[in-house]
Amino acid sequence: MEHFDCIVIGGGVSGLVSASRLAAGGCSVRVLEAEDRLGGCIRSWRPREDFWLELGAHTAYNSYAPLLEALDERGRLEDLLPREKVGYRFVEADGSLKSPLARLNFLEAAMHLPFGLLRAKSDQSVMNWFSGLLGRGNYRRLLAPAFAAVLSQPADDFPATWLFRKKPRMQRAPRKYTFTGGLQGLLEALAADAPYSLRTGALVGAISASGNGFRVETGDTALTCSQLVLAVPVDVAARLLAELYPEVARRLASFPMSESEAMGVVLPADKTALPPLAGLIGADDSFWSVVTRDPVPHQSLRGYTFHFRPGVLDRVGKLARIAQVLGTSPDAFLHVEEALNRLPAPTVEHVALAGEVLALLAPEPLALVGNYLNGLAIGDCAERAVIESARLLKMKGMTP
Ligand SMILES: Cc1cc2nc3c(=O)[nH]c(=O)nc-3n(C[C@H](O)[C@H](O)[C@H](O)COP(=O)(O)OP(=O)(O)OC[C@H]3O[C@@H](n4cnc5c(N)ncnc54)[C@H](O)[C@@H]3O)c2cc1C
Repeated sequence: MEHFDCIVIGGGVSGLVSASRLAAGGCSVRVLEAEDRLGGCIRSWRPREDFWLELGAHTAYNSYAPLLEALDERGRLEDLLPREKVGYRFVEADGSLKSPLARLNFLEAAMHLPFGLLRAKSDQSVMNWFSGLLGRGNYRRLLAPAFAAVLSQPADDFPATWLFRKKPRMQRAPRKYTFTGGLQGLLEALAADAPYSLRTGALVGAISASGNGFRVETGDTALTCSQLVLAVPVDVAARLLAELYPEVARRLASFPMSESEAMGVVLPADKTALPPLAGLIGADDSFWSVVTRDPVPHQSLRGYTFHFRPGVLDRVGKLARIAQVLGTSPDAFLHVEEALNRLPAPTVEHVALAGEVLALLAPEPLALVGNYLNGLAIGDCAERAVIESARLLKMKGMTP
């Protein structure tokens, strides 16, 4: 049976940043990814050689320093593609597109802002804290749908501390960027010629104890390792740990999951009259948000991914709504692709639960990384991966 210092389960950003830190620290590492591609929630659809469209995450920032440092180690920082500055619009009930500022009541904002800024975010839900910041009316009209668009799920109960976290910026990188072939290309660049081994199509079905470490089973093969990193969605982590770490698994199982249904369409640029936009926000609509390819324009094609609320429209209904918003007919679509996205839906109480989980695991050769421990953003995941890899390396007496 093959043995590794560390096995990383999951080939999304959390898993790949963990693997690169552990391998850089001197560990032998194997990454096991269930799907045939890397990326997880970072899913760049490539219907043509010269065109891609994001069906999952779309924007990364230079405040995602741990991600950028990993990319720099692979010598690929120069391959970042800056995103052009284009704005967002609300899709109003009458079909018109309005600037987010049109939904802001300035007087209400001015009355709340001086006091709102002084309130601590900890133990506050997004709705409580941001209603205090700009007023309840502004929250309902502007912020609630805008944040739901960011999270692809209702934002009201989400922990305020986990929505936007200030992080140091890497000044050498563009402020907002993507990568050749989309953000998934960035993860592929992280994994290319990496100092660790990687298997895709390797669904891990069970984990058990083996000596001082772990036995990891994928289909008909089993591997062993001294240390283990779980970089999978929280519900998968809960399932895999149910027998080995029941106290941890019980807490993880209490995290709800949300789903959103992505539909991406590509059409000739002259088939829609929409101005260049980074995205659209759906207020009381069948979709949370629309993400466009406009920040990285193509000479003859345009692309739009609609993130629909789950279970509202069928395929035909989605195509019709997309065509309506774009002011065109479904016949204009050259390529169509669908994807199901899943994200954790934590509430304020899950911040404390995540703290308890990390405390329980502090002395263990097992690390949890992912988007349910300090925030959803790619940068939050990369930050958690660096912290946990350093802990595992120190346990082995190795330098992070
Ligand atoms: C629609 C959408 C838009 C978003 N937009 C942005 C954005 O613009 N900017 C931003 O910063 N963040 C964004 N996010 C959030 C961010 O993309 C995710 O939180 C982050 O990518 C999660 O990374 P991860 O590696 O922790 O988990 P995941 O990406 O979920 O990766 C987990 C991996 O584990 C694999 N796996 C699962 N089970 C097993 C198993 N049993 N065995 C082996 N492998 C397994 C999965 O296949 C997957 O590849 C967005 C998310 C979504 C869904």
